[in-house]
Amino acid sequence: RTRTGCAIYDVNFEAEAENHNRLSLTGELRQAIEENQLVLHYQPRLDLASGAITGVEALVRWQHPVRGFIPPDQFVPFAEQTGCIREITQWVAARAFAQCAQWHASGRALQVSINLSARDLLDPELPQRCAALLAGHGASPQWFLLEITERAIVDDPARAIETVTRLHEMGFRLSIDDFGTGYSSLAQLKRLPVAELKIDKNFVMDMARDADDMTIVRSVIDLAHNMGLSVVAEGVETDEARRLLYDMGCDHLQGYQICSPLPAAQLEQWLARTAA
Ligand code: C2E
Ligand code: CA
Ligand code: CA
Ligand code: CA
Repeated sequence: RTRTGCAIYDVNFEAEAENHNRLSLTGELRQAIEENQLVLHYQPRLDLASGAITGVEALVRWQHPVRGFIPPDQFVPFAEQTGCIREITQWVAARAFAQCAQWHASGRALQVSINLSARDLLDPELPQRCAALLAGHGASPQWFLLEITERAIVDDPARAIETVTRLHEMGFRLSIDDFGTGYSSLAQLKRLPVAELKIDKNFVMDMARDADDMTIVRSVIDLAHNMGLSVVAEGVETDEARRLLYDMGCDHLQGYQICSPLPAAQLEQWLARTAA
């Protein structure tokens, strides 16, 4: 069971892939995109300075007609291996751009974070495709934060940095997801036009009982601020974690303590209740 109470079918795409099923699974995923079986949930981000929800992270799920609800951990890694992730990213971006444009049109100026994979950053056509999608949905790049992982930069730094730089020049803001778990050097970080560091949830979840994790969280917050970047903590599950992060000067919080990822309609209801 997930935190939102949905039953999860025990699918193991890795194992199925071993059974030479890669082609049929890739086919199933392509079909999922065409038949709109993918959905986005949105998790609020709290701005500690204002106490307001200023953004959300878009997180993909697969509503499979037979297997049921499938969380991203069970198909995104597979899609990354086969290259099918590019089509998923394209779908996610289109959906998130459309949703965000709709929110802005109705007076809700939410910033939407979108996850990119390593594979996406090696795709030289990604920036052009994003430009076309933005235009198609009447969305502005400033409304979005693109989350990339350190891992994505390590694989092929020259190409990844080129793509990231083009996305930045288009007006997108960039965030380094899972910060602290990868292998990127500070020298590399300096070469990237990033606006934000996102502290990995494993540090945040353990910091109240693990002094090393607390030190890492504090160091990343200070590092971000010293580099003129904003910093967000994910995996904020308790009142205590929230208070500690507030005291350490963290800019934004995301986690179950604030709200789980929700479908757009439920998110809107939650926002209306929270603001009231
Ligand atoms: P991530 O980008 O690090 O996303 C954060 C994950 O932590 C999400 O899991 C979110 O639901 C979960 N989470 C949120 N608050 C808490 C909390 O307080 N405690 C804990 N323990 N977890 C929390 P989710 O939605 O299952 O996504 C898992 C991963 O799948 C994501 O990790 C990301 O790597 C990938 N993913 C999700 N959506 C997309 C997408 O659209 N594109 C790509 N490329 N990857 C995606
Ligand atoms: Ca993320
Ligand atoms: Ca993360
Ligand atoms: Ca630990």
